[in-house]
Amino acid sequence: MTRDIICTACPMGCPVTVELGENNAVLSVRGNQCKRGEKYAVAECTNPMRSLTSTVKVKGGVNPLVPVRSAKPVPKHLMLECMKIINAAEVAAPAAIGTVVVENILGTGVDIITTGSCPAKE
Ligand code: SF4
Repeated sequence: MTRDIICTACPMGCPVTVELGENNAVLSVRGNQCKRGEKYAVAECTNPMRSLTSTVKVKGGVNPLVPVRSAKPVPKHLMLECMKIINAAEVAAPAAIGTVVVENILGTGVDIITTGSCPAKE
């Protein structure tokens, strides 16, 4: 079986074809222009990762929500479970940029951090 993907490891966006064997074992990678593309293609077919962005409720802030993101990509298959935890999370105002809202989400070793700030209500 082959899988056609677009490499997003750089803005070139090379079309890459990955040949997969039993149990999704990667047999070959074609179309990549560099080693980084091969690494991306193998990861995408064996353990795809995604950066996660969302918002979290702010307790006592001038705004009801603050934007957050994962400090690093998390496994794609955990995205829904991560979102449930993020949706239930709350940060106290004042919240500075880079505040850890959820530490080590789902044991991935990745923190969810704020990408904006929110002052407290006067
Ligand atoms: S294969 Fe290499 S050059 Fe092509 S998009 Fe991926 S990283 Fe960029």
